[in-house]
Amino acid sequence: MLDKFNREINYLRVSITDRCNLHCTYCRPKEGISLQGHEDILRYEEIIRIVSIAVGMGLVKVRVTGGEPLVRRGFVDFIAALKKINGLKDVSLTTNGILLEEFARDIFDAGICRINISLDSLNKDKYFRITNGGNLDAVLRGIARAEEIGFSPIKINTVAIKGFNDNEVLDFAQLAVNKPFQVRFIELMPVGQANSGYSEDYMPATQLIQKISERYELEQLKDKKNKSDGPAKIFKIKGGRGEIGFINPVSDYFCSTCNRLRLTSDGKLRVCLLKEEEVDLKKALRENCSDTELEKLIREAILLKPKQHDLICTEMHLKKCYRNMSAIGG
Ligand code: SAM
Repeated sequence: MLDKFNREINYLRVSITDRCNLHCTYCRPKEGISLQGHEDILRYEEIIRIVSIAVGMGLVKVRVTGGEPLVRRGFVDFIAALKKINGLKDVSLTTNGILLEEFARDIFDAGICRINISLDSLNKDKYFRITNGGNLDAVLRGIARAEEIGFSPIKINTVAIKGFNDNEVLDFAQLAVNKPFQVRFIELMPVGQANSGYSEDYMPATQLIQKISERYELEQLKDKKNKSDGPAKIFKIKGGRGEIGFINPVSDYFCSTCNRLRLTSDGKLRVCLLKEEEVDLKKALRENCSDTELEKLIREAILLKPKQHDLICTEMHLKKCYRNMSAIGG
């Protein structure tokens, strides 16, 4: 599946719900969010059909996300069904970890061993605040359970927010020293809810790298041993068990290596996280389209992929993306 710029598109992020058991302040407001109805979201069979067709076209990798994927009923059977699609090499999951302790064993038994867990603070009160009510202990128990069961790699994703968790950077680094986790800092993107106060909240990765290198000796891994690292810049911490990563969508475009599409929970193929273009697959599916027609729509989405997003991180020129991340799937 080559796009107009000769990039091979072989990765799909699938959001299975726009619902979430957290309300992170930059992602999903507590009030005023209109949730998609039962009929609006794709049925699991519809997602399996889309993925199967895309695999026939060259898709090899799927990440299941949301909203919070673990809150949708039947998700374990769904990921087990995904794992059975012939030719699909890699299925992984992104979760906030709140329900992980309960589901980790089932997820692992369904055949998923790669998991990303979002965690923006290691401080109980701050975690409660940023998530609007989340329980840090539940997440930490979930992570411990995942480690015990043998998930690998375990990646901890932390959105860097100035004035909120910049003073915890070394604590997160210490986590990567003590545990065999890959702790990754992600630059805040001007998506949906994060647009309000964005220029005060945004912090470029360079500042974090600087802070961490004052305490730890970092060695950048140039030849990534793991293709799953995607656009992240990965560093080994001297003497540590884990790794530190930085994902810099704002300060350092990685569009030239973009290999992905996103399937939103309401059945739209989104061609770039930071652009509004989407191709409606649900409409076609519900009008009983043929596999060939579906394939044509997937190809159309691939050809719509822009060369790069046009985020410019200055207050004057800030381009925004209006859909919330919880509806797109991060
Ligand atoms: N509920 C799951 C979770 O928490 O991982 C999956 C969905 S969540 C939308 C996926 C990721 O997107 C989370 O790590 C979240 O922090 C991140 N995210 C949401 N809004 C963001 C923004 N404006 N900039 C950067 N990351 C964002």
